[in-house]
Amino acid sequence: MKFEQTKIPQATAKRLPLYYRFLENLHASGKQRVSSSELSEAVKVDSATIRRDFSYFGALGKKGYGYNVNYLLSFFRKTLDQDELTKVLLIGVGNLGTAFLNYNFSKNNNTKIVKAFDVDQSKVGSEIGGVTIYNLDHLEDEIDDDVSAAILTVPAPAAQRIADRLVENRVKGILNFTPARLTVPDDVRVHHIDLSVELQALIYFLKHYPEGSQEK
Ligand code: ATP
Repeated sequence: MKFEQTKIPQATAKRLPLYYRFLENLHASGKQRVSSSELSEAVKVDSATIRRDFSYFGALGKKGYGYNVNYLLSFFRKTLDQDELTKVLLIGVGNLGTAFLNYNFSKNNNTKIVKAFDVDQSKVGSEIGGVTIYNLDHLEDEIDDDVSAAILTVPAPAAQRIADRLVENRVKGILNFTPARLTVPDDVRVHHIDLSVELQALIYFLKHYPEGSQEK
């Protein structure tokens, strides 16, 4: 993802895909405008935040009219690079990696896992969800120039070394599903998703806040 045109605060940038998905659905159902309160209800972000976010895109909703869906969609497409196919690699074709290959972001036709890598020779050469699994030893030969992000679903002890190799090969974003905390240069972004920590946190909130105060 690139956010080059305008400097958008990071918290706003993180909400863009959420807005985008909802607006696409609205557009598909033929709606031309949407109010910030409708949006707020649908994406569960308070409407003051939505209005502030949208003001960064030059989208100033009109009272009694709301926002123009087409305008917002074209802004998001540009900003999220949705006009271009974003190619992603996946490293580690275990249970989680296999699920990603089968899923392959099929609802979002602009992001695709194009190649997968593993060290397990019994997996190398096979295909899952139409994606070929390559030998990790050949990572350097198989990385195409236009790949900028990778998903890491390897065992934690292998994660840092693989991250180093990805960075050496110009990968600028890593979605890290391992519990390992990765060290990368400043110009590389790591988004860390630890599913068991998230689940534990959810269960903690269920136990300690049963009346349902939202954790956002
Ligand atoms: P998951 O954690 O996705 O549920 P799993 O339990 O099936 O996976 P893991 O041991 O976590 O298996 O390994 C995930 C995948 O990473 C496996 O396919 C394994 O072959 C692969 N793998 C293990 N070590 C490495 C490594 N050093 N580099 C790349 N891939 C590796």
